[in-house]
Amino acid sequence: MTLAARRDEPVVCDHCGRSVRRMSRQQKFCSARCQNKARWRVISSKMAQGSQTTWDHQNFDNENNALQVDFSRPRTPKMPLRMEWGGFAVVPDQQWPGMYRVRMPGGRVTDMVNLTRARDAAQALAGL
Ligand SMILES: [Zn+2]
Repeated sequence: MTLAARRDEPVVCDHCGRSVRRMSRQQKFCSARCQNKARWRVISSKMAQGSQTTWDHQNFDNENNALQVDFSRPRTPKMPLRMEWGGFAVVPDQQWPGMYRVRMPGGRVTDMVNLTRARDAAQALAGL
């Protein structure tokens, strides 16, 4: 057992070895940054030790296949939805976000509906 450090004794950081003024008796790091880094170092070494069992790559892949997300593919560019059939175009409502109308070839528009219904209606009106 080591004696408790004296209050005015400088702290030698456990992570980077820097010597700094002591702020508290049990202080082990020069800064919160080093404390965090050291914590991650411990966590990752624990993970590495457990790699034969819980973190075995093969097991991990098999058990989580359904939950896997492909991060390599950018998510934002959505598949462009078709919005126009034979002159019947689905247009967003001017007032309500997420609501749509079908604009007919003559320029008239239908009642306001949600996107799915508007697309259905446009296809139906176009005779598809
Ligand atoms: Zn440090």
